[in-house]
Amino acid sequence: MSEATHNIPIAKPVLGEREVDAVRRVVLSGWVTQGPEVAAFEEEFAEYVGAPHACAVSNCTTALHLALLAVGVGPGDEVVTVSHSFVATANVIRYCGAVPVFVDIEPNGFNIDPDLIEGAITGRTKAILCVHQLGMPCDLHRIAQLSSSHGIPLIEDAACATGSEILWDGTWEKLGKPHGDIACFSFHPRKVVTTGDGGMLTTASPEYDAKFRLWRQHGMSVPDTVRHGSKQVIFEDYPELGFNYRMTDLQAAIGREQLKRLPEIIAARRQLARAYAEYLANIPGLRPPAEPEWARSNWQSYCVALPPGVDQREIMQALLDRGISTRRGVMNAHLEAAYAAPGSHRIAGDLRRSEAAQSGTIMLPLFAQMGADEVSLIAQSLRDVLAAGRPALH
Ligand SMILES: *Cc1c(COP(=O)(O)O)cnc(C)c1O
Repeated sequence: MSEATHNIPIAKPVLGEREVDAVRRVVLSGWVTQGPEVAAFEEEFAEYVGAPHACAVSNCTTALHLALLAVGVGPGDEVVTVSHSFVATANVIRYCGAVPVFVDIEPNGFNIDPDLIEGAITGRTKAILCVHQLGMPCDLHRIAQLSSSHGIPLIEDAACATGSEILWDGTWEKLGKPHGDIACFSFHPRKVVTTGDGGMLTTASPEYDAKFRLWRQHGMSVPDTVRHGSKQVIFEDYPELGFNYRMTDLQAAIGREQLKRLPEIIAARRQLARAYAEYLANIPGLRPPAEPEWARSNWQSYCVALPPGVDQREIMQALLDRGISTRRGVMNAHLEAAYAAPGSHRIAGDLRRSEAAQSGTIMLPLFAQMGADEVSLIAQSLRDVLAAGRPALH
């Protein structure tokens, strides 16, 4: 195999001196976990998405766990969601002793098909957990309506969707306001902004927010910040079973710098997505992703559906041989060994579209530091490798 001519990764976080300075400031301050930086990050994140409350935690998986507990999901309950997501979406339901009920995705996208939700609801359904997959808002209008008409809480897995927007009553609003009961975000490096690891819960409910704050630090009644500042001796107590799901101040300080960069990062990503749409047009059988008119993605990932019958792995390898990294489509939890045991999940209807999307799509590189010239090069390479793999059409 000859040397690859390019070296384009799938993603690259935007990190620099500003983040280094922020961490330095925190280290020298002597307060390094769940302190003033976490409080400031929460305030700034709440302001950015327009949420009444934001609570920082260690990652989005722990955020989702607390969200499900807050709405009362417990052993024997069911939660309606998709299999077609990162495995954490389904795992957190099982952490609560509940059963994930998987429904299929839409015909032309990677989000839950709202038409299938009602048929999956039973007397045991305790929550709907929708995902804004790859940063693309799911159909919250329809799903929120189902949630309220059935009296079932709605939790949004917005892990990928920081900065994505939805048209709501004629106004563009950020995801996380939230439009369901609770929204959960991730700051893993594969997302649009990062704190190394990190997560955030947003809600309009002060009761939920109070639960998150209690549970994220061992169920401790009085946080360290309060005891530290007190002129009186305080003994804390532990009224409920909690967890250690804290975010550190080192992470929060990075997060605050990342939030400042976010508008620029998203503008760059949207421009790159537009360039992709232009350069990928007219490749026979290829289907680039598209926004519904009521959604604005942050383009956390750019996932294209390959022409029918094309071998996903061969295309990915041919691109990698040219130095272009790609990833396969979003996974399906129900196809993994961790979900082989009977009782680990239930499938409502079938998951044909979810399975087709996993094996029939690929994600192309997209990160803010890329240029339109790289998009053009990637698109041309994809066009070439698809043409080479399809001699019958020439
Ligand atoms: C990344 C991701 C998660 C998990 O986020 P972590 O912060 O890594 O725990 C959950 N759900 C979806 C859809 C994701 O993409």
